[in-house]
Amino acid sequence: MAGILYLCATPIGNLGDITFRVLDTLREADLIAAEDTRNSIKILNHFEIKTPMTSYHEFNKYDKAEVLIAQLKEGRNIALITDAGTPAISDPGEVLVRRAKEEGITVTSLPGACAAITALTLSGLPTRRFVFEGFLPADKKERKAVLKSLENEERTIILYEAPHHLKGTLKELFDALGERKITLCRELTKKYEEAPSMDLSEAIAFYESNEPKGEYVLILAGADPEKKKEEQIRRFEEMTIEEHMQMYLDDGLEKKEAMKRVAADRGVSKRDIYRALNLGESD
Ligand code: SAM
Repeated sequence: MAGILYLCATPIGNLGDITFRVLDTLREADLIAAEDTRNSIKILNHFEIKTPMTSYHEFNKYDKAEVLIAQLKEGRNIALITDAGTPAISDPGEVLVRRAKEEGITVTSLPGACAAITALTLSGLPTRRFVFEGFLPADKKERKAVLKSLENEERTIILYEAPHHLKGTLKELFDALGERKITLCRELTKKYEEAPSMDLSEAIAFYESNEPKGEYVLILAGADPEKKKEEQIRRFEEMTIEEHMQMYLDDGLEKKEAMKRVAADRGVSKRDIYRALNLGESD
């Protein structure tokens, strides 16, 4: 009979957050697959767990998944632990889970700490509807596309970020999404846990003179449709009709469609736009 793949959530800082079930499973499994064996050995030593460990990380996630699948098929029970928190959330666990399911292997998840959810609960922002983005893509084009897709996102947004990228990311968020409330969570579950809430522009100003330290979870308020509308009207009023037209032409719209949109945005008739641009209506 095939073994079982156990996804074991581990603490994101405070060792007291490990669960009894995870400890039992780590003790009883035939093998522990760990993202960072040097990190995980500290947990195993602390709880006197002697189960053999093997590495499963970003750079061997495809090849090693096949090795682990073969072992599961031979009947070995494997516990997966990642660097911190819940396996398969912004870590290589996702690949192993997919492969195991494709091979008909039983996968079970032992819940516990997850930085995203811990941060969300601390944010004071709406928690009824939220969207988890994890790390923004490193690739410039993909990153821009994700930021664009978030512009009108009304649900609360959860992002992960490393300290050396924080300042740049905050600026990019401001440029793409405008002013928003943000909660910056760091050192979660640890002694110096912090979750200050402020405007995005205040966060940018704060980190101009303070170096970011530790890993961050950013919780961003979703778009406010009313505020967005008002901002847009203000933006259009500041533009000339020519600039307004150019904005849509740059977006790839046909001239006629662009004029229609400009007229609608400015609350005037299409004829007014034709006239202002000194065009005949057949142009
Ligand atoms: N699987 C993990 C989970 O369940 O949250 C996330 C893994 S991801 C590779 C690591 C990111 O989680 C960090 O860069 C940071 O954004 C966030 N994170 C993990 N522990 C944290 C902590 N104690 N405080 C703040 N953020 C943390």
